[in-house]
Amino acid sequence: MSKLVIVGTVAFDAIETPFGKTDKILGGAATFIGLAASHFDVDAAAVSVVGGDFPQEYLDLLVNKNINIEGVEIVKDGKTFFWSGKYHNDMNSRDTLVTELNVLEHFNPVVPEAYQDAEVVMLGNLHPLTQQSVLDQMAKKPKLAILDTMNFWMDIALDDLHAVIKNIDVITINDEEARQLTGEYSLVVAARKIHEMGPQYVVIKKGEHGALLFHNDHMFYAPALPLEEVFDPTGAGDTFAGGFAGYLAKTEDYSFENMKNAVIYGSTLASFCVEKFGTERMQNISKDDVEYRLKEFKRLTQFNIELS
Ligand code: AMP
Repeated sequence: MSKLVIVGTVAFDAIETPFGKTDKILGGAATFIGLAASHFDVDAAAVSVVGGDFPQEYLDLLVNKNINIEGVEIVKDGKTFFWSGKYHNDMNSRDTLVTELNVLEHFNPVVPEAYQDAEVVMLGNLHPLTQQSVLDQMAKKPKLAILDTMNFWMDIALDDLHAVIKNIDVITINDEEARQLTGEYSLVVAARKIHEMGPQYVVIKKGEHGALLFHNDHMFYAPALPLEEVFDPTGAGDTFAGGFAGYLAKTEDYSFENMKNAVIYGSTLASFCVEKFGTERMQNISKDDVEYRLKEFKRLTQFNIELS
């Protein structure tokens, strides 16, 4: 079974959408990535940090999904990372209201020894120096290193971000962030510029408009599944990344062709994430639910035009 190291925040989120508001609930990039990756037969481990205020039941939830949490440090007298965001009416854009780094400020990630030979490393949203430190701890070069990031880190640690981007194979980033990172409006040009920064593969997430995968001159597009109910897009990007990474780790095929399937799995899992607030929907998805949506995906995107 392939090993997958997942780095990212394990957090408290407070979310406001046009459909309602939550107090502090379970969130964080590593949480969403882990919940998505748990749908694949992989040996996944989370590397993160929380404070003494973090409920044991949230940690148990990850363990019950077979995610190893040996690498999740608990700082007894510290406070857990807290993020709060408010979505606009179209739900495709949001404002960050609060980012309290708390225990993240002095976080030194430790990859458990048993996972230092992992085939796949998913560097979720965190300080780029933390992401680099995780890569440095790998005993051998992973078959695939994937990185996700966010405008917050571009604003405060752009040079460090450029340094770690040089060392990865795949970047997953949303459209707005791709534009910020490159200064280009066209996503095709932005992807080309990001290629030049290091990654061979560039995935640009476009929220309810799907995702684009670029590899040199090759391009693949997957729409997002049109849904009846969208309550809260928080974590959809991370869920996408977790599904993408989990599928690739499970299949051990890191080709462009197989990455297309990984994009479809990522999109499928993300389609569940947005249906309820926070992680709620991600906690209870069956194999059949996933299969059914994959079929819907196929139906949505297949047509029979005969080309001469
Ligand atoms: P997404 O909606 O996929 O972009 O991810 C939202 C998640 O990212 C939330 O659960 C937050 O806890 C987490 N998050 C928000 N801001 C940051 C940040 N600056 N660094 C790391 N994680 C963050």
